[in-house]
Amino acid sequence: MKKKDGTSRRQFLKTAAVSGAGLGMAGALPTAAAPAAETAPPTPATKVPRKTLGSTGEKIPILLLGCAQRFDDKYDKILHRSYKAGVDYLDTAHVYADGWSHKTIVPFLEQIGGRKNVWITSKFPAKPGDVPGFEKGLDTCLSELQTDYLDLFFMHALNDPKHLDPEYIKMGEGMRKSKKTRFFGFSCHGDRMVELLNKAAKVGGIDAIMFRYSFAQYGDLELNKAIDALKKQGVGLIAMKTQDSVPKDQAEVVQFKSKDFNLAQAKLKAVWADERIDSAVSHMDNTTKLKENVDAALSPIQLSMNEFQQLQRLATATAAYSCHGCSQICEPHVPGETKIADALRFLMYHESYGEQDKARTLFNRMTPAERTIEGVDFTRAAAACPRGIDIASRMRQAVDRLA
Ligand code: SF4
Repeated sequence: MKKKDGTSRRQFLKTAAVSGAGLGMAGALPTAAAPAAETAPPTPATKVPRKTLGSTGEKIPILLLGCAQRFDDKYDKILHRSYKAGVDYLDTAHVYADGWSHKTIVPFLEQIGGRKNVWITSKFPAKPGDVPGFEKGLDTCLSELQTDYLDLFFMHALNDPKHLDPEYIKMGEGMRKSKKTRFFGFSCHGDRMVELLNKAAKVGGIDAIMFRYSFAQYGDLELNKAIDALKKQGVGLIAMKTQDSVPKDQAEVVQFKSKDFNLAQAKLKAVWADERIDSAVSHMDNTTKLKENVDAALSPIQLSMNEFQQLQRLATATAAYSCHGCSQICEPHVPGETKIADALRFLMYHESYGEQDKARTLFNRMTPAERTIEGVDFTRAAAACPRGIDIASRMRQAVDRLA
């Protein structure tokens, strides 16, 4: 498919790979050329386009409402405006908003005539080796949402490939058979994400996965191979953390210029341009963000080569401010229990999401040993970090802002 400047995304990616584009993004680039025909918006576009989720046969909107928030239980503008725009897929979890997400979705379900009118995905965390914990977790989600089924149940934020051992796959089959959930899968964004994705492609029994994916990962060879393997197996793929957020002043280092999209919209368009990705979830906690995201989803205009290049320049320029959670690389190089990846994630909530209270709460929930920086030498950890993060300095900022 031709872009508005007459080039195809495949052409751009090929050019970038050959030239290196000065971006340090060696390795395979996505095989995507253009959005699948089924994602083409209706004419005139009034509702967010839909795409089939893996092999489920179900068409879901390409933009999903991230529900890590407490909604207004009388009348919530975000929920209702999303629904009217065709974003009729709620992505929630037992732990979101300290349990308030589930509770405050319930009145909305009544207001729209019942839960059958929306797709509900929920998630539950569990301890390793605890199949009954996940099973109880599904019941807890159903009870809190006051429904007798979910459309999709995720094991939440998996980071241990053991959770894809046969007993868990069997558990998923049982959940589907019981009709408590129509589909089953997991979410992941931690240091073992690629390992998990590869295992999921091998073991089967997983309908869909929500995982970290953004413009900043186009050159990640291993991730791209895993995505290709999952696509081949018909696993539904939902992108999360599409913004690869960095502090605002850093994001402005590359002055993104476009006559069609702002930076946040362009980042979403970049993910949607990858034909392997079925949908992207976005945490939309105000009506401006919702409108911008919906406008981007409705727009038939694709990113130009110049816009892709600007995003890739941004990825390179801000890599040292964007921790990807690969804690197995840096944390073995510090003594004690200091949790670098968690601390930097909470710092991101503070600097980039504007969620100061949440950031402080989560940071202070870590044990003193996990958040200490006193007497810790981060030199070797920083040398190991593939993103070039000045870990000592960023950890100091985390403590100064969040402790
Ligand atoms: S600091 Fe670097 S190595 Fe450590 S988790 Fe973040 S990106 Fe990975």
